[in-house]
Amino acid sequence: MTFSNDELVLEAEREIKLERESTLKIIKLFQEIAARKIYLEHGYPSFYEMVTKHFGYCAGSAMRRINAMKLVKELSQFEEKLETGELSLSVAADVQSFLYQESKIERPYSLNAKIELVETCLGKSRREVEEEFARRNPEREKRETQHAISNDRLRISFSISKELNDKLNHLKDLLGHVDPSMTTESLLERLVEVGLEKFDPKRRAERAKIRNEKKRQTAAKARVGQESDRPSNSTTPSSLATFTSAAEVKRSRYIKVHERNRVENDGRGCTFVSKSGHRCESKRFLQLDHIESFVQGGSNRAENLRWMCGAHNRNRAVQPESKSALAN
Ligand SMILES: [Zn+2]
Repeated sequence: MTFSNDELVLEAEREIKLERESTLKIIKLFQEIAARKIYLEHGYPSFYEMVTKHFGYCAGSAMRRINAMKLVKELSQFEEKLETGELSLSVAADVQSFLYQESKIERPYSLNAKIELVETCLGKSRREVEEEFARRNPEREKRETQHAISNDRLRISFSISKELNDKLNHLKDLLGHVDPSMTTESLLERLVEVGLEKFDPKRRAERAKIRNEKKRQTAAKARVGQESDRPSNSTTPSSLATFTSAAEVKRSRYIKVHERNRVENDGRGCTFVSKSGHRCESKRFLQLDHIESFVQGGSNRAENLRWMCGAHNRNRAVQPESKSALAN
């Protein structure tokens, strides 16, 4: 490289300016893509998913851009500060998530208060900005935060009392025979399993179903013993098939369990496929979607049902027919 030392610095300054300009341009494009929900037609359940999977940003970079995007959408007067670098992308994102957390604990900022906060944060480092947040809300350090660090890992942080920590360690000691080097995560996993077994109505219903099925089988065996001489001219209706109610006569949305079980399911989640062939595969709020809509007379039979994530199910209007998604 033939640059002099001064030229190198000048050249870097020039490129950094261009980088900031293009960051702002990207943020403006993101605003429009998010507003038009274009991520849905591309087969993503959220804008975040599109930013990471389609545009290829890592989780942290994506969140910084999305949060900064939200901040300057509301406070567009700070766009030029992003461009000059007085407001860094990270600080803009931190301010946005601070405002969001404050609004969640019912301490919403007025527009003027938001402007005042951003002005206070101009030219500051992330650490200085964090100190500013702590001054405004000393309870902040007790608050729980979480962010994605990869597709299947989250970093959750919160502070706990010394007393709770002692109890956790005591429990780890008690379980030492199971796993002598138990991490807090694996302890939490065990505790959650215990809790779910006790409180999850789905699991309780599953256990009850198994119990009832066993009872039914025992009763059926006994009956076969008694009735083995008679001709079997009618098939015994299964306990599920007898589930006919007045509501069902009026066309119920209730999908019978055996139909539900017959719906094609390859375990890959949402079956929505974009025009370019990208399949969503989100497993968030998976639910059965009527291919021909229920309102328009679509049936509750498996042939008319497909698995969709919550986002795609809610936004049927943008969906092309993706009936054959699983066949691809
Ligand atoms: Zn989906």
